[in-house]
Amino acid sequence: PARTRFAPSPTGYLHLGSLRTALYNYLLAKRTGGQFLLRIEDTDQKRTIPNAEKRLLEDLRWAGLEWDEGPEVGGPYGPYKQSERTTLYQEHAEKLLSSGHAYRCFCTSQRLAELAKLRTEQNLSPDYDRTCAGISKDESKERAAKGEAHVVRLKVPDVYPEFNDLVYKKVGNTKRIGANDGYEDPVLLKSDGLPTYHLANVVDDHHMKITHVIRGTEWLPATPKHLVMYQAFGWTPPEFAHVGLLVDDKGNKLSKRNFDTDIASFRDKSGVFPEALSNFVALLGWSHKNKTDVMTMNELVDNFVMKFTKGNSTVTLGKLWFLQQKHAIRRIDAGGPPFDKMVDDVVAIVEKDLDSAKYEVILGKRNLREYVASIVRSAAKKEWSTPKAFVEQCDYFFTLPEPPSAHQDVALSLPFIQAIKTLPQDQPWDSEPIKHAIKAGMSNWCTTEGRSEKEGYQLLRGLVANGKHGPGVHEIMTILGREETFRRLGAEAF
Ligand code: GLU
Repeated sequence: PARTRFAPSPTGYLHLGSLRTALYNYLLAKRTGGQFLLRIEDTDQKRTIPNAEKRLLEDLRWAGLEWDEGPEVGGPYGPYKQSERTTLYQEHAEKLLSSGHAYRCFCTSQRLAELAKLRTEQNLSPDYDRTCAGISKDESKERAAKGEAHVVRLKVPDVYPEFNDLVYKKVGNTKRIGANDGYEDPVLLKSDGLPTYHLANVVDDHHMKITHVIRGTEWLPATPKHLVMYQAFGWTPPEFAHVGLLVDDKGNKLSKRNFDTDIASFRDKSGVFPEALSNFVALLGWSHKNKTDVMTMNELVDNFVMKFTKGNSTVTLGKLWFLQQKHAIRRIDAGGPPFDKMVDDVVAIVEKDLDSAKYEVILGKRNLREYVASIVRSAAKKEWSTPKAFVEQCDYFFTLPEPPSAHQDVALSLPFIQAIKTLPQDQPWDSEPIKHAIKAGMSNWCTTEGRSEKEGYQLLRGLVANGKHGPGVHEIMTILGREETFRRLGAEAF
């Protein structure tokens, strides 16, 4: 069983890329019967956004990613928020100092800035020159005890350890670090005594017994440094799988400027289903052997294998809308709360955007919610993207179409009307008898008028649905009801 984690920093909201990372970790844990953890990496207090943590939890839950351990649910290795684990990190920095794997650096930020500037001018990397690595342990301790400001840096080896990334295969072992290249020696503990990402991430992954880390390739360069720490502590590192970035169709990394990737926008602005969104992000750079791409969360779990694409994945939204339509059909077939939600959303838009005086005439004594439910059940099988687009497409259910004469000579519809009128009044207004009546009237009409069935159905659709595509004409008539159907066919005129 794998223990995985999603470790977001509350410096932003959940977006397509981070949802995907979270999802892969979730799927691996569930597939192997393990645990999925949520850890809040709030080490960068300056960049923390006040409501980001709350939103992250909400958005993850909405997407269907419940965590087994983490904020609000607890667990044996908590707290699961890094700002509440400071002492643990300080103790571990202390360990690396005494074993000689880390050193205190007293350089002022001014000196570091000057150094970086100078090195850049000389076309060198802006890395540190390791001045403070030469200070003796005693002197270093003494200066720290006296309160001199300092950070703790990791002393990286000349050659990084090699490791086997589950996606990128053999990584590391290549980079030589020498005086001219500078020393990457990352800061582990900042001058305020708080850890950086590198230290906190490694210490926590170990203490939380994480077995697999799936994360974006932007972290690939950090991994060799993390492995240096694992070695220094004498710990076994987890397995790493770095997944490519999400890019737009021009190959640019998705960002706020070129793409609205905020999960809340997909949910609130576009009405995307959580199962459609999770299905969509799962497919961005992951390959499976299932016969269809359309999968619920449980099916994603059942089909999950660690097979990721090397390189970036292009995001185009066409696939999302395809999946949204497919999941709409599944919701309709399954019924229950997810279907009710579709109905509620449509009702809300009808009430907000449409003229109630108009649709109340059509409703008669019927209840709006039930009427909408029958529309969604039938029409959303053909077309569903957002509730708003759905209402626009189906507006003919809520407003009277143009008067019949505007479409066609009313007389032309006479045979249909007669056929439909022959449906016994005491029989329920059901789709099957209506279908048969139309068929009978249709062949009549085709012979007497010498016209095709196709034209006949177009004519009927013009009359009952303002010519819009959607469910079959008999289904539309069933939903509209006897009275409204007759009204649209101009039956009162006869
Ligand atoms: N806190 C990091 C982030 O926000 C976590 C990276 C990792 O998974 O190690 O992406």
